[in-house]
Parts: sequence; C-alpha cells; structure tokens
Amino acid sequence: MKTTRSSELFSRARRRLPGGVNSPARSWGSVGGEPLFFARGQGAHVWDADGNELIDYVCSWGPLILGHAHPAVVKAVTEAAGLGTSYGAPTEAEVQMAELVCSAMPSLEMVRFVNSGTEATMSALRLARAATGRHRIVKFEGAYHGHEDALLVKAGSGLATHGVPTSAGIHPGYAADTLVAPYNDLTAVEKLFRDNPKEIAAVIVEPIAGNMGVVLPVAGYLEGLRAVTRKHGALLIFDEVISGFRLGLGGAQAAYRVMPDITTLGKIIGGGLPVGAYGGSAEVMSRVAPLGPMYQAGTLSGNPLAMAAGLATLRELQKPGTYERLEAKGSRLETGLRKTLARRQVPATITRAGSLLTLFFNPGPVTGWDSASRSDTRAFSKLFHALARSGVYIPPSQYEAWFLSLAHSEADIDATIAAVDRALAA
Ligand SMILES: *Cc1c(COP(=O)(O)O)cnc(C)c1O
Repeated sequence: MKTTRSSELFSRARRRLPGGVNSPARSWGSVGGEPLFFARGQGAHVWDADGNELIDYVCSWGPLILGHAHPAVVKAVTEAAGLGTSYGAPTEAEVQMAELVCSAMPSLEMVRFVNSGTEATMSALRLARAATGRHRIVKFEGAYHGHEDALLVKAGSGLATHGVPTSAGIHPGYAADTLVAPYNDLTAVEKLFRDNPKEIAAVIVEPIAGNMGVVLPVAGYLEGLRAVTRKHGALLIFDEVISGFRLGLGGAQAAYRVMPDITTLGKIIGGGLPVGAYGGSAEVMSRVAPLGPMYQAGTLSGNPLAMAAGLATLRELQKPGTYERLEAKGSRLETGLRKTLARRQVPATITRAGSLLTLFFNPGPVTGWDSASRSDTRAFSKLFHALARSGVYIPPSQYEAWFLSLAHSEADIDATIAAVDRALAA
C-alpha cells in the first residue's frame, strides 16, 4: 500500500499542528504508525491522499449515518451556502430543526443549538447547577463527554474518589466537584448520594456507553439512575451525542423508556457539520438566557449550513424502514465476526447496539471501564493495521465504536468480515 503522500502531509502537519492533527484520536497514537490523510468520501468509502480506497467504519466518529456526501445533504448545504453562511439572527431552519428534534425525542420540549457536543455537555452542567443550586456532578469511569474541564476526569480507584483530572491544566477546583463511579454499578451511585447529601446537581451518563468501546447498560441500570436522582432532587442528564438518532429517532431514552431531565445531542444532528444541542422540559429550559438567568450564547450557533445538513439528515432518517436496515447491517456484521472469531479461536467479545459495534480483544463480559480496559490492545493494533492494508478502516483505537452507516452494503460488510478473518489467521 503506497502512503507517500499521506506521509509527506503528516510530516508537514507535525510542524504546524500539535501531533499533526486537530483532535488527538486522529493521530493513530494508540495503534502506532502514521495516519492516512483523507481526500474524499462517497457512501461508505473513503479515498486517502494516495488514492487508496477504504471501507470506512469511522464515519467521522458517528455523524455520517447516511454515509459520505449523501446527495440530499450535499444539495441542502449547497443551497444554504448560496443564501449566506451566517447571519447572527434567527432563521426558519432553526425552528424546523427544533420542532423536529423535540417531536422525535420523548423528553424534549425545548432545545438550544450549540456548535459541538462539548459545548452541549458543558452547558448542560451549567443548567443543572442553575436548576438545583447545587455544585457536584456524578460521571462514570470510561465515559467521555467532550473536553469540558469538569468532565475530563476518570479517577482510577475507589467509589468515592474525588476527581483527579485526566488532563493537565485543569483547575483542581473543577475536578474536585466531579464524583466518579463505575458504569453499570448502581450501588456506587447510591453511596455517592449518601456521602454528599444535597450537593449533587446531576448525574451525567451515556445511556449506551460509546467511548470505552460500546458498553450496554445492564437491565434496570438506567431506571435505577432515574429513581436515585429523583429521590435525591438531582437531575439526570443523558449524553446522547452518539446514541441520539443512532438507535432510532427517539435515541436511547425511547429505546429504554427512561426519561432524563436534560439531553445532550451532537454528531448525527449536524449531518457532518459542527452542531451540538441540549434540551429538556420547558420548565428546565426556561432557565436558559434570554428566558432565564443561566447565560449561554454562540456567534455561529444554529448556523444555517449546519441546520440544513442536520435537517436533510434527520429527514432521511425519518423515512420508513431506516432503523430496521441499520439493525440488519449491524446484525450481519456481528454474526460474521462471531463466526470468524470462533473459527480462529480468538478470545474476544463483541458488543453491539444497532449500528454501533466494538470487538474487544478480551474474553469479557465487558460491563464497564474495569473490564473493557483489560483488552489486548496490541492484538487490536495488529488487526487495525492489517485491515487498513486490506482496505478496511476501523477506528484507530480499541476503545472506540465502529460506526455503520446506511451506505454500507452487504458486499462491504462481507468484505470486512473476510478481511478480519484473513487478519486473524495471520
Ligand atoms: C463525541 C462526544 C462528545 C463531544 O462532542 P464534540 O462534538 O466532539 O465536542 C460528547 N459526548 C459524547 C458521548 C461523545 O461521543
């Protein structure tokens, strides 16, 4: 596989961009080697700067549920661009997007659009603090909610461990108010509420964890979080930046029938352009400026191009049979991979939620960060590189979800399974 052009670009990039990238996971840091630079995408396929064609399971880390350059999205964005790219004044597209998102997601009556998932979760925390007058937040090990200071905390040990930031440069005061519990462990959350009476503003959770690989909530877990937050007067925040519009139009909250107080969205709702959103009941959202005292603003928020891409994407998703097709694709990939793993006798675990999937090099079961992090990341790196060489691009980290799109054909999926089989044999 020729990669000279990507190599040249990477050496130039490293001189001017930290690590050669604008977001760390793109640098292939956890699998080694030099990243491919992408030049073009169409459907489920991407072409790198040297012209190599790959089946793409990153899909921009989630947004491209329709695949690359979907005609409806390209048309909507092109038309919107011709009318002006930003006004800093309200537009009809924002109203349409808000109506569409609120009608699809059961717990939303009002929504505020921002520019990224990070902005959404950051604002959701501020809103929860404004609504409760409390300052502490509970998050879960291995959960990623964007790069907001208070949420860049993983904490290695102990249920009641006060947050130790995972990043340099975070004011210790921010981290101190972030309490961390293991995912899927309700008792740990109950203990945090007992130990911090009337101090916890909110629990923030990815209802289906997607940032330590895909980890599903165990039966009763989300219901339990709903009950314990309600009992203690705290809010429940569902971070549906990945799961929103991924599992169905109503997100994980509809799939599991658990209603959060605040929902954060991103990725798919921007159709590949920068968008995030947070929303909730009219009562909760009435605290947001200019209606209420919680300030939050954005020069490009509700941007016309982003709204156009989002609307075009969501309208495609509303067509009948969409999620059944995504489920069928996910199921075909999972079944094929399981057969291959069994045939090659590889101790691995596959987790899946619809069109999200992770292959953990780990006998499992994988229920949270403790079990996920016992994976053989060297084996994963070998698989990653072998697949890239045979034209299949999976996320360059063990701890990320593979994203299927409506554009992945049965032939793409079967070629992927065959490539995995060859890689495991080698
Ligand atoms: C990607 C992600 C975010 C952050 O979104 P950005 O647009 O990258 O800022 C937040 N929460 C979850 C669950 C995510 O997967």
